[in-house]
Amino acid sequence: MERFADEALVLGTVDFGDADRIVTLFTRGHGRLSAFAAGARKSKKRFAGALEAGTHLTARLVTTHGDTCRLDGVDVIRSFHHVRDDLAHIARALYCLELCRELSRDNQPNDALFDALVHYLGLLDDKKAGPTSLIKFELDALQYTGFMPHFSPCALCGQPTGDRPRFDPEHGGVVCAACAPRVPRGVAARPEVVDALARLQAGERKPLPPELRARSRELLNLFIAHHLGRKLKSVEFMEQVGTD
Ligand SMILES: [Zn+2]
Repeated sequence: MERFADEALVLGTVDFGDADRIVTLFTRGHGRLSAFAAGARKSKKRFAGALEAGTHLTARLVTTHGDTCRLDGVDVIRSFHHVRDDLAHIARALYCLELCRELSRDNQPNDALFDALVHYLGLLDDKKAGPTSLIKFELDALQYTGFMPHFSPCALCGQPTGDRPRFDPEHGGVVCAACAPRVPRGVAARPEVVDALARLQAGERKPLPPELRARSRELLNLFIAHHLGRKLKSVEFMEQVGTD
């Protein structure tokens, strides 16, 4: 048994038995890990509501024999509680937490992804995160975890993607019309959508109009579902609450 403390974000929790909870943490020093929080549902004092998804905290942990650590206590750094004032912000927060839960790996620290998630939750909490910022966060998160989609130039030949680009997650992103026969499962993408995503990826911060966001969302959902093997549950929640 080894005791250690680590900065962490709560990615999610699952109730266990009558009194306990298993918490999935994204830690700065140890990547994703599961921690057993004994009495988390009964004792209000010990964790004091800190084990909500999205909470940024210092976790005091103890290694055990299996894969799950024991969570001995926490000190909240920031709870991001203003996110809960607004359904659109809740939906975006749940989405970015689920995305990071899927993209992060056990025992593999990822400072860039960790910092991006803390920063994005802060923007949501400060009410400074519009829908375009979520697309930007996704592009960054994919880049930091080795899944960066290519929007320009063509993912196969390196030439400009032209006016009839196709998008194929299996081949890494957008391909030009000349390469289209090599990607039979590719879908048609509008050049202005490809261009908008390339510019966001390059660091441009200009908000996208709703129509471009909707088309961008389709491409990103396709790409992420392909690489993770399933559609994220929180995408459906965003659709239900009518936000992006
Ligand atoms: Zn090409």
